[in-house]
Amino acid sequence: MSASDSAAQTAGSTPHPVVIEGALGEPWPAGARRDDGAVVIGGVDVRDLAAEHGTPAYVLDEDAFRARARAYRTAFAQAFEAIGSGVDVYYAGKAFLSVAVARWAREEGLRVDTASGGELETALRAGVPGAEIGLHGNNKSDAELHRALDEGVGRIIVDSMVEIDRLAAIVRERGDGPAPVMVRVTTGVHAGGHEYISTAHEDQKFGLSVAPRADGSSPALDALVDAVGRPELRLLGIHSHIGSQILDADGFRVAARVVLGLRADLAARAGALVDEVDLGGGYGIAYLPGEVPLDPARVAGDVATAVAGIATELGTPLPRFSIEPGRAIVGPAGVTLYTVGTVKPITVGTTDDGGTFVRTYVSVDGGMSDNIRPALYGAQYHVELANRVSDAAPVLVRVVGKHCESGDIVVHEAYLPGDVTAGDLLAVPATGAYGRSMASNYNMLPRPPVVAVSDGGTRVLVRRETLDDLFALDQG
Ligand SMILES: *Cc1c(COP(=O)(O)O)cnc(C)c1O
Repeated sequence: MSASDSAAQTAGSTPHPVVIEGALGEPWPAGARRDDGAVVIGGVDVRDLAAEHGTPAYVLDEDAFRARARAYRTAFAQAFEAIGSGVDVYYAGKAFLSVAVARWAREEGLRVDTASGGELETALRAGVPGAEIGLHGNNKSDAELHRALDEGVGRIIVDSMVEIDRLAAIVRERGDGPAPVMVRVTTGVHAGGHEYISTAHEDQKFGLSVAPRADGSSPALDALVDAVGRPELRLLGIHSHIGSQILDADGFRVAARVVLGLRADLAARAGALVDEVDLGGGYGIAYLPGEVPLDPARVAGDVATAVAGIATELGTPLPRFSIEPGRAIVGPAGVTLYTVGTVKPITVGTTDDGGTFVRTYVSVDGGMSDNIRPALYGAQYHVELANRVSDAAPVLVRVVGKHCESGDIVVHEAYLPGDVTAGDLLAVPATGAYGRSMASNYNMLPRPPVVAVSDGGTRVLVRRETLDDLFALDQG
């Protein structure tokens, strides 16, 4: 048994068949392929991308982003029209937002969901009308609330009783018309991956809990009743976001039942049947070959069928719905390119027959500063040698960054050709969401650029940071 076979057994994984020519499939952007041995994204050879823009670089396939935005919008529109309701799709900008990306989302018929003053400003600079923007946040500043009101933001999702008070006071002080609000509630459903759990009590910072007290009231219902009674606020509806990387409709169905029930309770208690329900984001994608992403048409159909049934049971007319996918729109459209530096085989154990287990550490020119998800969540990614194909036997590798942390891991476990060497390009797919948006300057590393590719052309959306950018902040 060879060292890599033993290690492979330990790891419980197998090498993936290497595509030499032709389409790459999941988890690559639709249309990504190998040509002449090299990975080609949006019609652009990664060798040309690296030569022109350097590495590390985030490559964003514009057509893939647009196609995914359209797929979510049309799938949900069709499914909810079929039940006599309607739906707005908000792109959750926290996954990745730049001025160009906010424009793409709008051009594809999406609205934009923001979670801070900075994200709000990005959407506004892109020309997204305030009315098509939502503002989230569990701790919005007065300045953020003022800015939202100045720009006529379509909905402010309030997250606490304190915020309802603060917002009402701000509106009073300004002498504006009522602020459009949704109340974010926590349904006890936490979804992610294949599982969801439903708990009675919440121990996290977001929203207002629907969990009933002894007298049948709840923080969520109290907040809704309170909001209905405020002349400074116009209560649009109820908001629920249950988690991320969700791969089936179960969690959404359970949460929808809770939210629609709450809506009926509010109508009974305060005589107000609110018009809108937001079911949040969290639609899952494929990160590894062989993973099956959530199909938008299928989940839209499942959720629409469920809410129609629940509304009938409750005897309430259907509200208008909205959803907030982020990762599902931008994640699969992004690929990170790195250049290999140090390659270091490390003996990590011995076999009974006297052999050794070797893990090859492949260091690249980025790391946890451009993708914190492996360190933060143990997130798994796929990697391929991108500038060439090789006949060399695959070896088990760990792709690591250049930061001063042993947890600085890009890909925990993967196979690369055994001749992988300094100067090679590695491509890590499905990095479009929560990569650049969560990037840091740890170890004074300037953050990589975001380069859009489409139809064989490139366009820099966010340029590479320089040390001068960083020193511009250092006051000496
Ligand atoms: C994070 C978040 C989203 C987007 O989540 P994805 O997993 O990227 O789809 C949507 N709505 C709210 C309120 C969020 O916090």
